[in-house]
Amino acid sequence: MLEKIWKKILDIIYPQNLNCIFCDMPISRNNRYSICRTCLKKIIFIHNSCEYCGKPLINTSLEVDKSVEKCPYCVDKRFLFDRNISFIEYGDLSKKMVFKLKYSDKTYMAKIIAEIMADSLLNINPNLLGRMDILTYVPLSQKRMESRGFNQAQKIAKYLAGLIGLPLFDLVERTKNTEKLHGLSSRERRRVLKNAFTIRKEVRDLIVGKNILIVDDVFTTGATIDEIAKVLKLAGAGQVVSLTFLTGKYEKDIDK
Ligand SMILES: [Zn+2]
Ligand SMILES: [Zn+2]
Repeated sequence: MLEKIWKKILDIIYPQNLNCIFCDMPISRNNRYSICRTCLKKIIFIHNSCEYCGKPLINTSLEVDKSVEKCPYCVDKRFLFDRNISFIEYGDLSKKMVFKLKYSDKTYMAKIIAEIMADSLLNINPNLLGRMDILTYVPLSQKRMESRGFNQAQKIAKYLAGLIGLPLFDLVERTKNTEKLHGLSSRERRRVLKNAFTIRKEVRDLIVGKNILIVDDVFTTGATIDEIAKVLKLAGAGQVVSLTFLTGKYEKDIDK
């Protein structure tokens, strides 16, 4: 009887455990990410990536410039963040997860995304967490926050902090209402984002000497993370590493 009631409560709290989040097929409750096997096969987990920008590599020996350990995307760039780690390739299914979270406020999606990120991180890079001190996230501008009502990166970061056992702090604020970055090239994004972020006054002392992880949903050109890394490092941060759920393969057209 008690078990029945408990199951009922679970159904209300976690309705996603009953059906696949993509195709709605019934799945078992103990399915880790609420994604059925057929859909899970269509999602490409990133195992082989550039150690610097985190973009997936197709053929490591041909793609990475061994003298600098960089891929064709970042070989001519000097990012201010130390590295980016992304977990899933940007694709039709994977981007739906981010869209559902971003535009229909499906909170359970933040939980699933955070679980995938935490599991993958512990699997592919178990030593990283021991070196990091603080978790933070990419902030939205006040204007965007007012229209959307929430920040998807913050939602993911909240779950992730619990899963990886790091304290979460709101470190950075977006002081410039930037135009939408979608469709802009790397260079244009840099121009738009220049000086868009500042460190919150009340956490200035906290940052000094700390290694910081920044959470975001998608890594496109790296311009956003780079601009945040710049202000964190100017404020005295140690390493700055970004954790982003999705990233696309290197494409020449985003690199103008
Ligand atoms: Zn499915
Ligand atoms: Zn790279």
